[in-house]
Amino acid sequence: MKIYNTMSRRIEDFVPIHEGKVGMYCCGPTVYNFAHIGNLRTFIFEDILRRTLEVAGYEVRHVMNITDVGHLTGDGDDGEDKISKRSKETGKTVWDIAAFYTDAFLKDEKALNIEPPVVVCRATDHIADMIAMIEELEKNGHTYIADGNVYFSIDSIDDYGKLARLNLDELMSGARIDVDSAKKNPKDFVLWFTNSKFKDQAMVWPSPWGVGYPGWHIECSAMSCKYLGKHFDIHCGGIDAIPVHHTNEIAQSEAASGEKPWVKYWCHGEFLLNDTGKMSKSSGEFLTLSVLISKGYDPLDYRYFCLTGHYRSQLKYSEEAMDHARAARQSLFQKVAEMKASASPSSEISGKAEEYLKEFDDAMMNDLRAPQALGRLWTMMKDQSVSDADKLAVLIKMDRILGLGLDKIEAAGESKVGGPEEWALVEKRAEAKKNRDFAIADSIRAELLERGFVVKDTPKGPVLEKSV
Ligand code: AMP
Ligand code: ZN
Repeated sequence: MKIYNTMSRRIEDFVPIHEGKVGMYCCGPTVYNFAHIGNLRTFIFEDILRRTLEVAGYEVRHVMNITDVGHLTGDGDDGEDKISKRSKETGKTVWDIAAFYTDAFLKDEKALNIEPPVVVCRATDHIADMIAMIEELEKNGHTYIADGNVYFSIDSIDDYGKLARLNLDELMSGARIDVDSAKKNPKDFVLWFTNSKFKDQAMVWPSPWGVGYPGWHIECSAMSCKYLGKHFDIHCGGIDAIPVHHTNEIAQSEAASGEKPWVKYWCHGEFLLNDTGKMSKSSGEFLTLSVLISKGYDPLDYRYFCLTGHYRSQLKYSEEAMDHARAARQSLFQKVAEMKASASPSSEISGKAEEYLKEFDDAMMNDLRAPQALGRLWTMMKDQSVSDADKLAVLIKMDRILGLGLDKIEAAGESKVGGPEEWALVEKRAEAKKNRDFAIADSIRAELLERGFVVKDTPKGPVLEKSV
């Protein structure tokens, strides 16, 4: 397996630290609002990476945090805590906001067939680990206290900014003059806030430096080291994390443990764009997965759409492009359903089909070239020399990485809208109608509608349709 490492700016052979095992940390969502589909693109990329590693035979310990404190609206310790800000705007408590949007995020992940990380850890559950790491940094002489806050001194290490290849002299001369005046170096960053401009912060904890709350970067260092050790294989995120967040994570993690390098491979996903540029929560159309669903798309159409672009290239969202992705995904599902009606996946894949699978795997193992891999899938689908049984067997193997749920597609003619619970309600309604209990029959119809189904009476009996 080969993967691009942002640290070296090269595609490298992937060699894990411990044979057969991979430790992978992914920066999770900041839960002050719904994730937009740009954020979700990054989480889909990470899921594809994890699945590809698994197909390559590795056991992947995938850790993702939930940022529920400390992420300010500005990357340079400026602005307000995003969750506190939202709490003031809505009148809800910070805890309610974090819980609500964490739940919404996990539902989005499920709808997108993203495999749940092995560990999902909340920042607010790990304050003690962060304090312990800051104490370590303090002991090693990397911190100072000014104006009540604890800062990391970037001049205490000799390789600050190596991931982003920052030119510090240039940065210093161009540094904004309105930066926190307590900082000795404008690129120093806060590890722990006590006395700061954010006095009305709702989430605070006691610490050796006074009651306060952690900076954003320390949470990822503390949690990743806790769950993956002082040295692990892969750290992921979106490219916007490179210049500040990941740069600061590296500085403090290596300074705390005294061991380098902290992380072996840095993997970053490019942006999803809209008409105005990078999709973000503050600018342009705020597109969530629910908005896509209300536009008539299936969450898996979006997953397919993401697979049509390489993770290191920008991807432009448009309804036209989504329509193409939906048409392709539906056509694939339809073909699989038709093949399943007359064939079962072969237990042994033969010559030509095996070649297609190998080409697919090779494309994915070579820095996750998903568009090329999809190309091999479609060429195989059109190849009449490959039997349906072989095609089905290969598709199921390809889907371990694609994650489109091809194994769950029912054979054509057998598919039934609605699950067992809905059909139990349909039967109850039929019974009520037979007994001329129309009020009950109507209430069951309403309940089905709430679940997203319309019940229709046909000469062949009742059927369910998805409500729009
Ligand atoms: P946040 O919830 O803001 O912490 O972001 C979650 C993840 O989404 C981070 O890894 C970001 O780097 C990533 N991200 C933010 N905007 C975009 C975008 N437009 N396209 C792709 N990824 C993004
Ligand atoms: Zn992080």
